[in-house]
Parts: sequence; C-alpha cells; structure tokens
Amino acid sequence: MEPILKVEHVDKAFGGVVAAKDINFTIEPGQIMGLIGPNGAGKSTTLNLISGIYACDQGEIYIDGKNVTKLPAHTRARMGLARTFQTPRFLQRSSIRENLMLGLDLADQMGFWKSFIGKKGSNFDSELNELMEIVGMSVNWDLDINSLPYGQRKMLEIVRALLTHPKIILVDEPAAGLNSKEVERVLEILQYAAKKNIGVVLIEHQMDFVMNISDYITVLNFGRVLCQGSPEKVSSDPSVIEAYLGRDSDA
Ligand code: ADP
Ligand code: MG
Repeated sequence: MEPILKVEHVDKAFGGVVAAKDINFTIEPGQIMGLIGPNGAGKSTTLNLISGIYACDQGEIYIDGKNVTKLPAHTRARMGLARTFQTPRFLQRSSIRENLMLGLDLADQMGFWKSFIGKKGSNFDSELNELMEIVGMSVNWDLDINSLPYGQRKMLEIVRALLTHPKIILVDEPAAGLNSKEVERVLEILQYAAKKNIGVVLIEHQMDFVMNISDYITVLNFGRVLCQGSPEKVSSDPSVIEAYLGRDSDA
C-alpha cells in the first residue's frame, strides 16, 4: 500500500539544540505508529514538522504522495492532516457546538446545524453520534466547552479532528491526565480511526497503552531515531531500555 505519510531525512535545530535529526518513517492508511522517547527527545517537534508549524531544515514530508515540505500548516490541514495538542486547545468562552464546528467545511457545518434543528438522519448527524458513543459522552452542546472536565475536553478534541475526515491524525499524549476508563475510550476511538483507514501518529508516555495499540513504534532519543519496529522488538531492545532508565521519562 502507498504510505499516507512519509517523513524522509528530516532535520530541525533550535540554535545549538538538535531537536530532530534524520527522522524517517512511513505510515500506511489505517496504521498506528507510536512515537515514544524520553522527555526532550523530539517527539512534539516531529509532530510540529509534520503539521507545518515548524519548517524543516532538511528533508522532505509527503502526505498521500504529495510533497508538502514547503506548504503552510493550513494547506496541509486541508489536504487531510488533523492533530490534537498535548493540552486541548479550544476557543475561550464558547460552546461545545462552536468548537466542534471549527475546521469543518461548509457542507459539514450545515449538517451540524441540521442535527440541532431536528432534521435527523444526515450522514453528519449519525457520524457525530457514533463518535460521541465511542467516547461515551453525551453533552449539552450549548455548554461552555471549558466547563467540561479535562478528560472530556481531550476526547472532544479527537472527535473534532475526526469530524474533518482526515487522512492522518497526529495525537500528542491523548491519554495523559485521563482515568483508566477514559484511556480505554481513547484507545477505542483511535482504533476506530484506524479502521476507517486513517493513519495515526501517537505520542504517548503510558507504555502499556502505546504498546497495546500501535502497529509499530518509533523511539526517539536526543532527536534521533533510536529504534524502530514492533512493540515486542522495541520493548526488548537494550538501547531503548537504557534510554528510558538513563533519563527522566515522565514529563
Ligand atoms: P519531546 O516532545 O520529545 O519532549 P520536544 O520536541 O518538545 O521534545 O523538544 C526537543 C528539544 O527541542 C528539546 O531540547 C526542546 O527544548 C527543544 N525545542 C523544542 N521546541 C523548541 C522551540 N520552539 N525553541 C527552542 N527549542 C525548542
Ligand atoms: Mg512533547
């Protein structure tokens, strides 16, 4: 299968700090790649390079076969790249409805409104219901989104990303700060995304979670790929064990 995301020989430095060096990986439709590594290893930088928040110093990034290295973040988003942040990002003082509509195209916005004025049965409506069921939430759409508990906001951020029908979703620590029930929901919604042929890049510190869900793992250390392979291979690799034992990994 053609990769949906290809990262080739990507470098990024901040002053003297090498945040990413010769990063390589590919993700096929429906594949989940776990991106792990100690604090400061370059995981968030890698996501920011893929999404176009940072420009690469070197190397190329392809989305669905197209070279996007020089394209701005909003263009990459329109090409099917969605992401969530380490801390959920929503509009201040605004409703859940308004926040979920962010990033939707006009047709989907119409679907969203229809589902509130009682015209049930649109594709959008059933899709939204399905996603909300997976995360186990039913909410009053007019509620200020920032009044929701942290775990629910994090899950809604994934719902919002999936409503845009991405080809790839980048998720930065979706399970951090969640209780075990919520972690289970996040696992389910990411597996649902993969089943819909969406490629997933998952940064996560909870090892059992990331090892359980990922098709393969890329381990970063000091900005470089330390090890790449199946969860079994990576978790028994001596260099990985050493990187985790040698440095603080829980920040
Ligand atoms: P991780 O997400 O794996 O914890 P980061 O990608 O956030 O690591 O950071 C990798 C390195 O790059 C760190 O040394 C960090 O301080 C540095 N870094 C990241 N972003 C910036 C930035 N915008 N400006 C300067 N240094 C940065
Ligand atoms: Mg980070």
